[in-house]
Amino acid sequence: MIEFKNEPFSNFADPATKAKMAEAVALVKNELSQDYPLVINGERVFTEQKITSVNPGNLDQVVGTVGKADRTLAAKALHAALEMFESWKRFTPAARAGYLFKAAAVMRRRKFELAAWLCFEAGKNWAEADADVAEAIDFMEFYGREAIRLGGNQPVTVLPGEDNRLTYIPLGVGVVIAPWNFPLAILAGMTTAAVVAGNTVVLKPASAAPVIAFKFMEIMEAAGIPAGVINYLPGSGSEVGDFLVTHPKTRFISFTGSKDVGLRINELAARHQPGQIWLKRVVAEMGGKDAVVVDADASLEDAADGIAASAFGFQGQKCSAGSRAIVHKDVYDKVVELVVERVRKLQVGPAEENFPAGPVIDAAAQKKILEYIEIGKQEGKLEIGGLKAEGNGYYIQPTVFSGIAPEARLAQEEIFGPVLAMIKAESFEHALEIFNNTEYGLTGSLYSSNREKIERARSDMHCGNLYFNRKCTGALVGVHPFGGFNMSGTDSKAGGRDYLLLFSQAKSVSEKL
Ligand code: NAP
Ligand code: MG
Repeated sequence: MIEFKNEPFSNFADPATKAKMAEAVALVKNELSQDYPLVINGERVFTEQKITSVNPGNLDQVVGTVGKADRTLAAKALHAALEMFESWKRFTPAARAGYLFKAAAVMRRRKFELAAWLCFEAGKNWAEADADVAEAIDFMEFYGREAIRLGGNQPVTVLPGEDNRLTYIPLGVGVVIAPWNFPLAILAGMTTAAVVAGNTVVLKPASAAPVIAFKFMEIMEAAGIPAGVINYLPGSGSEVGDFLVTHPKTRFISFTGSKDVGLRINELAARHQPGQIWLKRVVAEMGGKDAVVVDADASLEDAADGIAASAFGFQGQKCSAGSRAIVHKDVYDKVVELVVERVRKLQVGPAEENFPAGPVIDAAAQKKILEYIEIGKQEGKLEIGGLKAEGNGYYIQPTVFSGIAPEARLAQEEIFGPVLAMIKAESFEHALEIFNNTEYGLTGSLYSSNREKIERARSDMHCGNLYFNRKCTGALVGVHPFGGFNMSGTDSKAGGRDYLLLFSQAKSVSEKL
């Protein structure tokens, strides 16, 4: 097998690539507004109730409607997964990995089309959408290889007179609960990691992006994955989510989303239910209040590029988004000026037309972000933005506040939108203190040319993914295993060598010779 390599990003500056993407956007536009069923044990289930997925950048455009599961259907999906587990667990790791490699090949062929769906459904511009698809491909290529690596007997100390073996076996039925912000990559990564390790799953996509999740389901089916291994179950998080999490036959929950929902899942999963014969495992990757730190001796142009990209890529709707910039007082005014210069150039408009700044995901998000902007006006100085932006969608102007205190709400709470809080630090030490002073600990970045400070930051900036002299978003599978500390979650390190172990248990067998 060839070594894992990251899927290259598409270069839309190349006219031929740009033309292909434009063609895919036109093609997908013709496929909007269709109806998609649930998939339980390979069977299509159409429901009376529906979830409607609307283009957040064009509210007259329905991306598609999908079925909406109730508890009866959720129970049915769970039982299908339970039954299938008995045979799926006996497939060899190589056989299971084979389905992931095939699905990755299908995705590679349909890359532009899938990216176009992400433009319409999630409001991602072309480069963001392309990166989402590339990451989904990477997860499948990476986890397939990991399953094979972890598939055989693992090393143990030799004891003469005994045959000792340690192997990893799967856990059982998992519930995968995915977010809307990487509705292909994270959903595909969480799902395929669990199944390639030998588990079967009920997959609950986010209600804001269920159509791309159906496309993923179809691709897994096209790759030949047996019915019942993945059961596609869109539904309300609070209704079917709670039911699935508390079900006694659920063995693990793999969740990515907000802190509040993660905490709720963790608590519900910890309660023993009648008939439950295990402790449920919870993998929960949650929010962030990530920051870019700029020291006095940094390249200020580079730092401003990094701050703007980290804060405003995909409208700040990344768990890794650098929503704080913590800047040394000696260069603070200059960096604010350079950041504002860059933000002024971010034109807002429909993602499928490839505007650099698209819409935010829905009306609730838009409302919440505008409320934070009002709070920001009390807590600091509005440098640019601050209003809804034109257009028939959930548009918000990229917004920068300066003069934000480290303890301010804008500096502490996850906003999940295009709002940057710029904070002045008295010294490098003070900047590190500010950096660490939130309940989260997901990503961070330091711009500095000073080796000693970089080494100091390496140990003292407390976050799961730390970067020097580059932006704090854009983790690559295999290269930057991803996951955060503290309230950012369980630090599962998706796309790393520890990840599949979260969906496995080790069995030690000893035979006297
Ligand atoms: P969310 O509102 O927490 O939703 C995530 C998922 O949980 C959705 O599928 C949602 O379903 C479901 N859900 C809601 N209530 C539930 C309940 N009571 N029980 C079970 N499931 C429930 O998060 P989001 O808005 O989709 O995503 C944004 C958040 O995710 C941000 O906080 C971001 O930082 C975080 N995130 C973290 C990472 C990471 O790796 N650390 C990566 C990406 C995103 P419905 O859609 O039906 O409500
Ligand atoms: Mg939508």
